[in-house]
Amino acid sequence: MLLYRTALERLGPDAVRVGHRVAGYRNDEGGVTAFVETRDGQRKEIAGRLLIAADGLHSAVRAQMHPGQPPIQWGGAILWRGTTPGVPIRSGASFVGVGSLRHRVVLYPISPPDPATGLATINWIAEITVDNSDGWTQGDWNRRVSVDDFIQHFEGWNYDWLDVPAMLRGAKEVFEYPMIDRDPVPTWVDGRVTLLGDAAHVMYPVGSNGASQAIVDARVLGAAVLAHGATPAALDAYNDQLCADISALVLRNRGAGPFGILGLVDERCGGVFDDIEKVIPAAEREAFMARYKAAAGFAIDALNASPPTIAPGARVRGA
Ligand SMILES: Cc1cc2nc3c(=O)[nH]c(=O)nc-3n(C[C@H](O)[C@H](O)[C@H](O)COP(=O)(O)OP(=O)(O)OC[C@H]3O[C@@H](n4cnc5c(N)ncnc54)[C@H](O)[C@@H]3O)c2cc1C
Repeated sequence: MLLYRTALERLGPDAVRVGHRVAGYRNDEGGVTAFVETRDGQRKEIAGRLLIAADGLHSAVRAQMHPGQPPIQWGGAILWRGTTPGVPIRSGASFVGVGSLRHRVVLYPISPPDPATGLATINWIAEITVDNSDGWTQGDWNRRVSVDDFIQHFEGWNYDWLDVPAMLRGAKEVFEYPMIDRDPVPTWVDGRVTLLGDAAHVMYPVGSNGASQAIVDARVLGAAVLAHGATPAALDAYNDQLCADISALVLRNRGAGPFGILGLVDERCGGVFDDIEKVIPAAEREAFMARYKAAAGFAIDALNASPPTIAPGARVRGA
């Protein structure tokens, strides 16, 4: 709602139209036309200078831009997600991964603790990997399920610092998702049309970076439009800056991203150890995480040292 309200404030009350679906586009001389279908069956052609398609995983614009793209890729992982009140672990903002590459729980707080109870909202993801040779047969890409449908995979995961079954059972609602992505495409641009967010680079959510990358895309594209105006040159500059690197990140996330470290521990000691330093010393752990952060653009020092992508108050000329 924050983004929606801000868009209306900045762009005017007619800027957001619901019940409209973009079905395709045509690059014209000096402009672009979007083919739009409305919920009540009307077809419209809407002309503009650029078309920025942020239409997600099933992007109609990407399908037209890359008609030969392979279908959605599912590697066999199934995720269940929910939130449960709980006491935050370690620093109070720690991101915790328990288990192995193919069978794990990830949790982190998404609110400060309530001063009265000490409980924060803990976001959790429970995950297993199964045989994917028949493809995803459940139909929905996002459906509500009961904890009883999957809790058996995590029974016995009780530790003195975390009771996983109790955490899973404490959620008011739970959703199931297959972990999916798409093979990268060689370009996000066709003339005056570009892709942004999941339409450009849907990726496994192992690095918590799908939505944050969509925000980075918007900032980089905004900076390119400031530099080049609302022109195809701006889209090319955006594409040159991001497409190759983020496509590599999509493939890197198939390799488990930061959770690769759980795989290393598992390989070296089957997950059983008295002293983690003897299994994977702190310097190796830090180097592993630093490599992922640098690839994903999460390296804190580099991020904090960077100037703003768009200077505060900047406006596009002639817009
Ligand atoms: C289980 C899971 C966990 C995740 N965890 C994280 C995380 O921790 N951190 C993170 O940063 N990201 C995470 N992500 C990824 C994040 O949810 C996505 O990257 C993000 O929602 C992408 O935003 P988007 O706007 O590009 O696409 P979407 O959110 O998919 O939005 C696309 C919009 O386009 C609309 N649309 C679709 N087709 C059309 C059309 N033809 N015409 C017009 N409109 C259309 C849709 O209705 C929708 O409103 C996770 C994803 C999953 C599945």
